[in-house]
Amino acid sequence: KSGFIGIIGRPNVGKSTLMNHLVGQKIAITSPVAQTTRNRLRGILTTPEAQFIFVDTPGIHKPHHQLGKVLVKNAIGAISTVDILVLMVDGSVEAGGGDRFITEILTQTKTPVILGLNKIDLRSSLSRSRDVEVIDRSYQELADNLNWPIAKFSATTGEGLPDLLTLLGDRL
Ligand code: GDP
Ligand code: MG
Repeated sequence: KSGFIGIIGRPNVGKSTLMNHLVGQKIAITSPVAQTTRNRLRGILTTPEAQFIFVDTPGIHKPHHQLGKVLVKNAIGAISTVDILVLMVDGSVEAGGGDRFITEILTQTKTPVILGLNKIDLRSSLSRSRDVEVIDRSYQELADNLNWPIAKFSATTGEGLPDLLTLLGDRL
């Protein structure tokens, strides 16, 4: 089986890093500067279970200028052309307005969504375990409303990515 996986989320959550890690080569430019990814980029991963065609998108955010509007339109356009969406968020901080803005958009789509909590490698440096609980709960609320499964991973270390691929493969 095979299918298109759209990677969406607000800028800088690690969408391009995830795609590069999974595909095993540098296709997408990663950068701490928002909106480095201006077009949809594709990368293919073939496993014994499935073939995944990942579609990286520019970050979705409330646009403040003309170029921003085009980039957001592109990302939203990608939603309707894929089989599964991974809504990526920064799992080292609580859910914010940007994540809720995208969640709002996704309530209108029939495409299955997986909520991907990235950057869990940063959690070990959080001072108290309570912080992790607060963060998890903020995303759990987003996911529960819409019945989205949650995957937790690190796009840089690769921790948790096998489970993400299992979730994706089960839905193709
Ligand atoms: P995008 O805008 O969503 O495509 O985000 P990028 O992939 O360009 O990554 C934004 C920044 O976050 C870069 O500095 C990445 O190195 C960093 N980053 C991405 N994924 C992770 C992760 O899992 N852990 C950590 N610690 N940093 C990450
Ligand atoms: Mg990017």
